[in-house]
Amino acid sequence: MSEGAAKKEDKPRKFQAIRGTRDLLPPETTLWNRVEQTAHSVFATFGFGEIRVPVFEPTELFARSIGLNTDVVSKEMYTFADHDLQGLDISCSQVIRMIDMFSSPGQAQYVVTALNHFLAAANQEIVRGNLSRTPEVVIAMQRLEEDMLFLSGVQATTPSAEFSYRTNEIRLTLEAMQWGIDVALRPEATASVCRAYIEHNMQQLPQPVKLYYMGPMFRRERPQKGRYRQFYQIGAEILGGTDSPAIDAEVIEMVMTFFDKLELQGVQLDINSIGCRDCRPKYVELLRAELLKVKDKLGPDSQRRIETNPLRVLDSKLESEQKIIEKLPHIADHLCNDCATHYAAVKRQLELRGVIYRENWRLVRGLDYYMRTTFEITAAGLGSQNAVCGGGRYDGLVELLGGPSIKGIGFAIGEDRLILSLQESGKLPAQQGRDVYIAWMGEKAHATAIRAAKDLRNAGFSVELPPVEQKFGKALGQADKLGARFALILGDNEVAEGLWTLKTLADGSQQKLTEPDLLDFLRKL
Ligand code: AMP
Repeated sequence: MSEGAAKKEDKPRKFQAIRGTRDLLPPETTLWNRVEQTAHSVFATFGFGEIRVPVFEPTELFARSIGLNTDVVSKEMYTFADHDLQGLDISCSQVIRMIDMFSSPGQAQYVVTALNHFLAAANQEIVRGNLSRTPEVVIAMQRLEEDMLFLSGVQATTPSAEFSYRTNEIRLTLEAMQWGIDVALRPEATASVCRAYIEHNMQQLPQPVKLYYMGPMFRRERPQKGRYRQFYQIGAEILGGTDSPAIDAEVIEMVMTFFDKLELQGVQLDINSIGCRDCRPKYVELLRAELLKVKDKLGPDSQRRIETNPLRVLDSKLESEQKIIEKLPHIADHLCNDCATHYAAVKRQLELRGVIYRENWRLVRGLDYYMRTTFEITAAGLGSQNAVCGGGRYDGLVELLGGPSIKGIGFAIGEDRLILSLQESGKLPAQQGRDVYIAWMGEKAHATAIRAAKDLRNAGFSVELPPVEQKFGKALGQADKLGARFALILGDNEVAEGLWTLKTLADGSQQKLTEPDLLDFLRKL
């Protein structure tokens, strides 16, 4: 290798954020904070409290709630096995120790006892949800049970080759297995909120329980503008109580109020009803039958979905499919009486609240758990990824996750897209300048400057205090670059006189003020 090449190899690798993830930097983060603050205050006025749920949960939680045939679960989840099962590790090594210590058929009962203990512990972890019943785990446990059965029948006269063949198999199975739980980075938070509702017995609280959350979600999607692998959602859920249409309308009204407060441009609310467990399957069958008639005119994705999830065909954006889809039966014509009445009442309730909506019969939403009301909100400036919020009713989801049979409805806002849309319409945060830059020279002045910085910061001003002495000219240049409004000039003269010089950087004017007058002056601005 040439010297040059070796040098190149020595150079530490420069890291970059992984594809689909990104850093959010100032001043953009000021806008993020403003959006989040607005969410906190608007949601509080509707009686919602904040919930913070973990970023990872058992994969099964998402698989069960979102649905196995959805893109999110089948392709996009970041999953990994978490092997940190302390208790099982100990009893696993106990079995191996017994095998090492007792190598003759006459001592088989020691291995049997340890293995029995291990299998009991593993079963308990499965019940507790700490060990996933993956196919590997199921097969390994079956094999160990068979081995245990064999060892229980071993006599002192059993040939030791047979004994060691079995014990070796036990050792290999135990060592090869990774006993743990399959976890996934959350692709959304509704399932977690429902899990938390059940775990904390929230059905004992006054119903409904109104919760909101904000934070990162993870989906392995193809990154593009407005679509990331780590993205942020602000969402809310109403769990328990009635499924009164007024609830559906109020939750939609809350999102619209939030968007209104942010002055989001080009907001368009689409609503639909996708029926219930009674009427939806009938419609899905009808849709499937109609789709089969035109199967060869559809693209491969839609062809696949005829079998897996025909409703998703309605979501298709493929140009060549649009004319065909328009001719498919509309779900509104196939709702049962209860669903039709509910949908009509939701529309009336929205009108009472002055919320403008458009009916969109093709709005089905990607996740399995939705029923009846579904809605989506789009905004300006986002190109093809223009949905900023999606939501709907999901009665029965909590029950599906092992909880009580209760009603539920919620939404999730894509915060990245919301911010993008605000930026596109010119709602950029003002550059975050300092209020005061303290230009100090001399040791005495430094001590005074430190005290002044503390007082000003306590009074809520943003202060820049240079750590080393600078000539006044350089300090003022620096203050300008940082966008400071004022420079507080502290030199020996100022400290001796007790009169501080405050320079307004916009016009260069200066005034001399005592310390209390300075605070007064700044406070009155
Ligand atoms: P969903 O949880 O799929 O109903 O999505 C709700 C909202 O989250 C969407 O309307 C988007 O605004 C946003 N969203 C979903 N996936 C992504 C993603 N990969 N990147 C950015 N935003 C997303």
